[in-house]
Amino acid sequence: MIDLHIHTTCSDGQFSPEETIRMAHQAGVTAAAVTDHDTVSGIVAASAAAVACGMTFFPGIEISVQGGKELHILGYGVHPDSDVLHQFCAKHAADRTERCGKMLAYLQKKGAAITLEDVRRCNQGKTSGRPHFARTLVELGYASSVQDAFEKYLTTPEFYARVERPKPTPEEGIRVIRSAGGVAVLAHPHQLKLENDALDALVAKLKVVGLQGIEAYYSRHTPEQTQFYLHLAEKYDLLYTCGSDFHGPVIKPEIHLGTGIDKNLCVTDAAITARLQAAIAAASRRS
Ligand code: AMP
Ligand code: ZN
Ligand code: FE
Ligand code: FE
Repeated sequence: MIDLHIHTTCSDGQFSPEETIRMAHQAGVTAAAVTDHDTVSGIVAASAAAVACGMTFFPGIEISVQGGKELHILGYGVHPDSDVLHQFCAKHAADRTERCGKMLAYLQKKGAAITLEDVRRCNQGKTSGRPHFARTLVELGYASSVQDAFEKYLTTPEFYARVERPKPTPEEGIRVIRSAGGVAVLAHPHQLKLENDALDALVAKLKVVGLQGIEAYYSRHTPEQTQFYLHLAEKYDLLYTCGSDFHGPVIKPEIHLGTGIDKNLCVTDAAITARLQAAIAAASRRS
């Protein structure tokens, strides 16, 4: 099985890069990518663990960009020691830290009086992602589940307008990935909640600024959505990829490595990894 969208403790996942890769191997994943949010700090450890398991491994990153509430670009084959990437990640880590203070003040105003210490205590010292805050809200009784915390507090119009951190434009996100020798892929298109025509237009626009692929297979895509995304990949001569977006059972209990939700993923199409490898090799020759 192929799973090219996986999070670890380096961002908001539950398990370390080594643990996550070993779990993926045990679940039957033979080709994997670690794609933490705005960081490549898990890549070296994950890659070593993958080599030890005999797995094919792609270094990855997931960058949140402006436009739509959850417009995310995956980067595959990025060089973890790229200066451009490091500067980018450092800036967004600082913005995330600043967002923490704004998020606490906003939650306070909404009647959820949690502190940074609470967030740390519930998350092994981690505080940078919304899922960390969501878990804390659940632990302290302000939400019934992580999903509920997101709906009540962390994806509201007020959250996006007043709390959300500055994000790069899609062009910048794609440019950073490509400057770091990577291949840029549109993550989970269903999350954009666009009509087909609007998504088609967005993909056309992103292609002009360097998009090279679309995550057609994803845990939360219906078969009809997947078909449409495969159609877009063909129409715009883009790669198609697959990923579970595994974070661990505490954050996304229904999503499993390799298999997705109730085994709806289980992608084994070797063309996906072969084409991605070829695109990464071409990117590396260019950069
Ligand atoms: P951040 O990068 O800190 O803004 O948080 C993004 C993370 O929040 C991603 O892993 C998303 O999958 C997660 N997320 C966004 N919306 C939801 C939701 N409604 N339920 C659970 N997780 C979500
Ligand atoms: Zn996440
Ligand atoms: Fe995402
Ligand atoms: Fe993700």
